[in-house]
Amino acid sequence: MPIFDSSFKLSKLREGNSRRDDIWLLSRLDHLWSNFFPDVTQDNPIFIKFGRHSKFRLGSIKFDKRNKKSYITITAMFKDMSIPVEVVDHTIAHELCHYTHGFSSPKRQMHKYPHHGGVIRRELEERDLHHLSRAYRKWIKQYREILKKQQGNW
Ligand SMILES: [Zn+2]
Repeated sequence: MPIFDSSFKLSKLREGNSRRDDIWLLSRLDHLWSNFFPDVTQDNPIFIKFGRHSKFRLGSIKFDKRNKKSYITITAMFKDMSIPVEVVDHTIAHELCHYTHGFSSPKRQMHKYPHHGGVIRRELEERDLHHLSRAYRKWIKQYREILKKQQGNW
């Protein structure tokens, strides 16, 4: 599992690479963090990887209390090149918001609940990432239609 290092600039290196693997995920995290979350310090080791192919759980961030490491997992479904990069970025940025707010991170917890009253949406907006939210909303609408059709066939 690749480890995130905020001092190592991967995004430039991997921009031209179209294959979506764990290193590509790391380059997206690096891109988002250095451009949109520069004020957020990295306080512990953070890992990112593709998990299993989950239809409904697109991303998650977990904190291991014993080793003080954070783990971001992204659904293997997003390896599919037909899914816009903005949708993957949105999922990573969402988890990064949790980290910033002290959920699954060593930081001070800023809210009672991780999704308290639209805090994620607001955080993304304040960081000029509404284009990701827009791309996500557009995609999730189509995706829900596809799921509905699939369910009809079962
Ligand atoms: Zn969340």
